[in-house]
Amino acid sequence: GAGLTLALTLTACAGEGAGGGGGGGADDGELTAGVAMPTETYERWVADGRNIEQGLLDSGYDDVDLVYANDDIPTQAQQIDQMINAGVDVLIIASIDGSALSQQLEAAEEAGIPVIAYDRLLRDSAAVDFYVTFDNYQVGVAQATSLLQGLGLVDENGERLQDAPEGPFNVELFAGALDDNNSHFFWDGAMDTLQPYLEDGTLQVPSGQTDIEQAATERWEGPTAQARMETLLTSTYNDGTEVDGVLAPADPLSRGIINALRSAGYGQTIEDGLPVVTGQDAEIGSVKLIADGVQYSTIFKDTRDLADQAVTAAEAFMNDEEPEANNTEDYDNGEIVVPSYLLEITTVTRDNIQEALVESEYYTEEQVESGQ
Ligand code: BGC
Repeated sequence: GAGLTLALTLTACAGEGAGGGGGGGADDGELTAGVAMPTETYERWVADGRNIEQGLLDSGYDDVDLVYANDDIPTQAQQIDQMINAGVDVLIIASIDGSALSQQLEAAEEAGIPVIAYDRLLRDSAAVDFYVTFDNYQVGVAQATSLLQGLGLVDENGERLQDAPEGPFNVELFAGALDDNNSHFFWDGAMDTLQPYLEDGTLQVPSGQTDIEQAATERWEGPTAQARMETLLTSTYNDGTEVDGVLAPADPLSRGIINALRSAGYGQTIEDGLPVVTGQDAEIGSVKLIADGVQYSTIFKDTRDLADQAVTAAEAFMNDEEPEANNTEDYDNGEIVVPSYLLEITTVTRDNIQEALVESEYYTEEQVESGQ
């Protein structure tokens, strides 16, 4: 089985070279880090990887093995096996399926390699040493709040407006991949925020699809969300009923949903009839759409700061210290509550692109203008 193969590879590896070998502090003096990222199809993971790599090199690591798994679960498991065999000193992992790596995590623990879960929680294993992420529940709250704001129901702080229209407004709900722990936090934050409006009839979901299983988008793929939106339009909205808003949990999904709505004749911008569509990640293509009044909002998560936190945690482990957590309650992975560091998020609409994204030097003015 896989266990035997791993054991044999480990032995082969240990026998290989003078001074090489065993994880968790190779004795050849070289400090190496393994960084496993899910996919390059989302801009953010490319930026995350680049920033983590640079940060680790700046903080004294000699070598960084940065890999992407093309959103394929077995590929990611294999990549991590290889890193463990190569004797890396720390592992930083943004998983595809948070529950699929327990075997790897166990092997890392046996080899004395600290594991940092990056952005997405690693589940069902006690061998997770630290978790760096954004406040994922707040991401969901912020997405739902901006949906309500776009519909004219609340102010920017989420306070219900006195003179708000009564509705009912027709909304449809999208979620991320079910094997990504974050999807559940995003969904819970959003649904807790929308619930009072659904209960009093201000909002309604004409498709009736209000469970996360119905709303989920496998592998977080834009075309999958687009296809679901097209199906919703032909099945639920073929009698003149109109969509007013869509809760979308990530920019590539938002763009797929917007494509479907535009093709169905909803107009090219919000002003001329396109529904309010939310997002996440401040991908440049979506920032451009927000500037042009097409997509309503996104959630900006400064991945430079997240990479910094991962590097800080790796440095702590390098010095045999525990990284500093600011949350030790919320992220129960099914085995342990993983000590976590949570970063804050920013909602971006047309009104604050400049302040949030350009002044912070996340994007240049030219990038926002060209959308590239
Ligand atoms: C991340 C989001 C991202 C999504 C799809 C989530 O785990 O937190 O930033 O949009 O995965 O890649």
